[in-house]
Amino acid sequence: MSEYSAPVQFIDLKAQQSRIRAEIDTAIGAVLDHGQYIMGPEVKQFERDLQAFTGAKHALTCANGTDALTLVMMAWGVGPGDAVFVPSFTYVASAEAPAQLGATPFFVDVLEGSFNLDPASFAWAIDEARQKGLTPKLVIPVDLFGQPADIDAITQIAHAASVKVLVDGAQSFGASSQGRRVGTMGDATTTSFFPAKPLGCYGDGGAVFTQDDALADLINSIRLHGKGTEKYDNVRIGVNSRLDTIQAAILIEKLKIFSDELELRNQVAAIYSEGLSAHYATPQIGEGLTSAWAQYTLIVDDRPSVQARLKEAGIPSVIYYPKSLTQQSGYQDFPIVSSGVPVSDDLPSKVLSLPMHPYLSKDSQAEIIRVLGG
Ligand SMILES: *Cc1c(COP(=O)(O)O)cnc(C)c1O
Repeated sequence: MSEYSAPVQFIDLKAQQSRIRAEIDTAIGAVLDHGQYIMGPEVKQFERDLQAFTGAKHALTCANGTDALTLVMMAWGVGPGDAVFVPSFTYVASAEAPAQLGATPFFVDVLEGSFNLDPASFAWAIDEARQKGLTPKLVIPVDLFGQPADIDAITQIAHAASVKVLVDGAQSFGASSQGRRVGTMGDATTTSFFPAKPLGCYGDGGAVFTQDDALADLINSIRLHGKGTEKYDNVRIGVNSRLDTIQAAILIEKLKIFSDELELRNQVAAIYSEGLSAHYATPQIGEGLTSAWAQYTLIVDDRPSVQARLKEAGIPSVIYYPKSLTQQSGYQDFPIVSSGVPVSDDLPSKVLSLPMHPYLSKDSQAEIIRVLGG
């Protein structure tokens, strides 16, 4: 079968594009016609669409998912002397953004079952940050691989200590927790529209979601060079972080098929889990949670041999992530909770992400499962 079928893609953006190519061409053409390339009408329209989809009161787009984290922290006045609690097993941007602002990323551990922040590790770290003379300022729960972190436990611990919650939803746009969509939880949520994310554009893009009117106003000013009420009125030091109108136009079209794509991703995940759970540690989705399935990630003890078998069969697989952040040379100077980050340090040698996208055929999946011995 595999010899004659098209090669399996890890993420198949071409299949998605062929589904809506005509709509995307029309949408881009409309931007070329009106010529408002920066903050054109599609940007406002897409922000309204994002609000409607997530149920968030405010959705503010920006240049990328890393900037989205930075914009929120700038609005909260995060800087030197502040501790920002970050899981050690995540994409680097979750720690890079606070470090760029001069704050101290304080690394805590994750749970092996969900890959997400361990509330107990975070709770432990708050006092330790104070003992080090830092101000515990915010926690960044990351919804890794598309599943929301344990937001209720984390928020309870955080708010009891006057720590804000900034959800890094770069991988979880479209997921939900107890019926609430990502974008409505925490004090603010960010996401990314990098091409390979569940909702991706054809370049860079990001957004901030919040229920807080004052925060939304502040972020709107900061993303536009600290603007006041007039364009050339600068009331604070801001940045330049906008979503291009063309990217907004593309995202409007992609969002229209996103619910259907989420359903397809869930079907792919269900087939994997059915075929593989007898032989592998498959992803565990918690009670009341849904995942956006940015990745389908196994925990594999004999990973080199499993990876070799997949490679031999022409099936791509990727290691997210080959190092925890406390193992990265650029992040050696930052504190780690005294109970350590053993799970975060162990996962890099065991995780393996399989092809995951809405257009993965049943035949391809059957082949992948067969090669994996399921
Ligand atoms: C992709 C990603 C980001 C950063 O998004 P960009 O749009 O690439 O800047 C931040 N956090 C996590 C967890 C991510 O996966």
